[in-house]
Amino acid sequence: MTADANRLAYLEAMGIDVWRERGAEDASDSPQTPEQGPDTTSDIPLLNWVDLQQRVAGCKSCGLHETRTQTVFGVGDPNADWLIIGEAPGQQEDRRGEPFVGRAGQLLDQMLLAVGLDRQSVFIANVLKCRPPNNRDPAKHEAEACRHYLERQIELIKPKIVVAVGRIAAQLLLASDAPLGRLRGRQHTLKDGALPLVVTYHPAYLLRSPSQKAKAWQDLCLARKIVAEQR
Ligand code: URA
Ligand code: SF4
Repeated sequence: MTADANRLAYLEAMGIDVWRERGAEDASDSPQTPEQGPDTTSDIPLLNWVDLQQRVAGCKSCGLHETRTQTVFGVGDPNADWLIIGEAPGQQEDRRGEPFVGRAGQLLDQMLLAVGLDRQSVFIANVLKCRPPNNRDPAKHEAEACRHYLERQIELIKPKIVVAVGRIAAQLLLASDAPLGRLRGRQHTLKDGALPLVVTYHPAYLLRSPSQKAKAWQDLCLARKIVAEQR
């Protein structure tokens, strides 16, 4: 069948058969900078989609507003079943205003295609809406300052599954410090058990460690099964 042939082609494009193993995920320090500005977050739980977008675009709740080119709200279907959540915009995302548009983003697209999805049929966002300088890890206070926006996005999208992409996003979303290898491969939940969450590898890591792509494929299949069970 052509659908199967397509899927195989995507798997091949993802490099599922590639066996080289290299290195581990980067872990860099998160320098702390003081929080800035007054609290403008208290009415965020009441905002509609468009107002939320505007609020994010003008946000100065943490120091990252000083170095960003623009905020990166997210892309895709605001009513999607799948919500993919990464860590923070990188350089290209900061320039283009869209998440996952660099090399890692192209691999994410291929991963989505392998389970029959694309960036218009899911919603893709990040924990942080602004790029940390030099792509350093998000600081705790930055993630805390930005958390309300993602929470409101989740409320409005009402996804059937959240896929946390990479260690940082997974640890922040689950308030865990477990390594990614222990978080992936099983179902977690958000919202007191109401919203299933699956963790998988960051595509930037998969570019460096292609042998792990087979596990990422398993994670996406688990997510797909969880969505199918809710129909
Ligand atoms: N990495 C992420 O986690 N998010 C992006 O948007 C791009 C790269
Ligand atoms: Fe606001 Fe989030 Fe950007 Fe910080 S990272 S300025 S909290 S939108």
